Amino acid sequence: MPKDSSIRDIHSFAAGAWISPGQGARHIASAITGEVIATAGNDALDVQSMLSYASDTGGPALRSLTFHDRARMLKALALHLKEHRQALYDLSFDTGATQSDHMIDVDGGIGTMLVFASKGRREMPDAQVYLDGPVEQLGREGRFVGRHIATPLLGVAVHINAFNFPVWGMLEKLAPTLLAGVPAIVKPATATCYVTEACVRIMLDSGLLPAGALQLVTGGLGDMLDHLDCQDVVSFTGSADTALKLRANPRLLSRSTRFMAEQDSLNASVLGPDAGPGTPEFDLFIKEAHREMTAKAGQKCTAIRRIMAPQAHVDAVIAALSDRLGKTRIGDPRLETTRMGALVSGAQKKDVLDKAGLLATEAERVFGDPGHFAVDSAEADKGAFLPPMLFHCADPDTAERVHDTEAFGPVSTVMGYRDLDHAIGLLNRGNGSLVASVITNDSDVARHMAMGAAAYHGRLYFNNRTSMAEATGHGAPLPHMVHGGPGRAGGGEELGGIRGVMHYMQRTAIQGSPDILTAIGGTWVPGAREASDKPHPFTRPFNDLQIGDTLMAGPRKITLEDIETFAHFTGDTFYAHMDDAAAAANPFFPGRVAHGYLLLSFAAGMFVQPDPGPVLANTGLDSLRFMAPVQAGDSIHVRLTVKAKTPRNEDYGEVRWHVTLTNQEKAAVAEYELLTMNAF
Ligand code: NAP
Repeated sequence: MPKDSSIRDIHSFAAGAWISPGQGARHIASAITGEVIATAGNDALDVQSMLSYASDTGGPALRSLTFHDRARMLKALALHLKEHRQALYDLSFDTGATQSDHMIDVDGGIGTMLVFASKGRREMPDAQVYLDGPVEQLGREGRFVGRHIATPLLGVAVHINAFNFPVWGMLEKLAPTLLAGVPAIVKPATATCYVTEACVRIMLDSGLLPAGALQLVTGGLGDMLDHLDCQDVVSFTGSADTALKLRANPRLLSRSTRFMAEQDSLNASVLGPDAGPGTPEFDLFIKEAHREMTAKAGQKCTAIRRIMAPQAHVDAVIAALSDRLGKTRIGDPRLETTRMGALVSGAQKKDVLDKAGLLATEAERVFGDPGHFAVDSAEADKGAFLPPMLFHCADPDTAERVHDTEAFGPVSTVMGYRDLDHAIGLLNRGNGSLVASVITNDSDVARHMAMGAAAYHGRLYFNNRTSMAEATGHGAPLPHMVHGGPGRAGGGEELGGIRGVMHYMQRTAIQGSPDILTAIGGTWVPGAREASDKPHPFTRPFNDLQIGDTLMAGPRKITLEDIETFAHFTGDTFYAHMDDAAAAANPFFPGRVAHGYLLLSFAAGMFVQPDPGPVLANTGLDSLRFMAPVQAGDSIHVRLTVKAKTPRNEDYGEVRWHVTLTNQEKAAVAEYELLTMNAF
């Protein structure tokens, strides 16, 4: 039979070529009409050649770039996607998502990529080695030192994603992976892979990615996991059942292949005891709960599944939430009036109804009848539409299903609590979740909840009248903050800024002499070689300065008159600088001492080169320590060494100088890092 031309072929991108669906291809239906709109999958994919293409072509190309190069690439990719996002919106309606859902998925994904691009430039070096933590002195004299570094894994990251966020789900994993310097093979859920495929095409067509950096498998993954090794990573998002099956793969276990899981979870929101009806917090609580039930038709891993309120306010919560849910128009997501679209598929709808049936054994449905509800769609009967369904569980202590059954749709259960400890006990019965929220204006309540519940939740979200205008929402994972949770949530941790990049890198403890550590880390380590025979470093442009270039200056003798002048000029007449007897009575001082800030100012006076030159500005000072008192009659010297260099734009870069002040006995009196911006 000839193939219907309206059914799209969704390709895979394997070893540099687009592969059309073949043997084993699966049908994909529209969430709105139930009609088959696409086919995807080809059992004949050569997984070994995909893995080799990634690790032999993509990996070396990515690793030849610095973190800053990769961050610039991410930024360019994100901006390119932004230009083409309309095509992704247009496709996404068939997944059942509304325009505001697209913003979460498409714009949220692009935004996540931009944050990683920015953090890569700001928080990582323009180099190929990432330094993790400070230098540790391991020997008495400082000639044997240690530090931790992170370098990219040499294999491939296999990303297996859930159906609900076909774009964000890919980009939130891809951004940290590429920033780390690791190639990715993305396997989206089949139900929505046509959106992911379009997004991958946009990225590949941009020409911004090196060959081998990104491949795509639509349909089944075949036996790819059976070929992975210790340099590969599997990063999974989906249900707990699938995660368990995949993480138990004998090959992954025998090779200790990293496996990260972001699973489903029974997230909860707690109305604080202070936040009764009539308070801004009560209205906020209802607004957040409503949004979490209806956005993406409740198909969000972070959605609120359990709603906890003080026993006395349970009826008010049910009434207010039901009122709001009743005003939510359900229908074809292309209609502007629609506030909640469809579930992704008929199968998903059936699964949600089955799970709602389980919840109904312990809780009463108080809003939403799946047998009778209004849908604004010509295809109401064929689409995967459901109404929001609110349950009330009168006895959450003896109940089991309400704490362990995730109905991945617009379903939530209200339950009352007696006191805060009872609420904490109920929260933690989810056995580990991605996020729990507490809506309270009482900081003591917040602290009590954090102490009792933080260990069970990857993220705690507090909101009240102060933060509500800016708060990003219970359900929104942010690239800056950790996303993941213990136990039921999978035990994984994604995002969280540079923490998320570390999943794709190996942390290695490096031990050796200061010179060895300087050479490996690209950052000067105290005790390493210094070069002090060159022209003044302030006269040399950014590109001429070398790590280890050093300027020595001094001595400058400190007089009592200096101390008095500084004290009266600045107003800092603290007794330790003015009153010999009072200062001597202080355990830190032998008598009157010079101001630490006076020493810093004198140090600057000793090391600056005053003429206009490549140094554009002093932008800060880090890690300042005053180590020994300086008194009138003492002489100080300063030593300034180029510790690290970071380009900031096309015109200038940041130079981090290690500065040590010593006295006439060669004892260190102060140490700090000085930051300057230097022209190229
Ligand atoms: P799923 O059925 O577990 O599928 C997740 C992914 O695993 C899909 O790409 C699926 O591909 C793939 N998969 C299934 N069996 C596989 C196998 N044997 N080998 C390789 N891959 C396999 O989950 P879903 O229905 O897509 O997503 C809904 C669930 O994800 C919910 O439970 C939700 O809570 C969870 N979720 C969690 C997060 C989070 O960040 N924690 C985010 C979103 C969703 P196919 O589609 O081709 O079967």
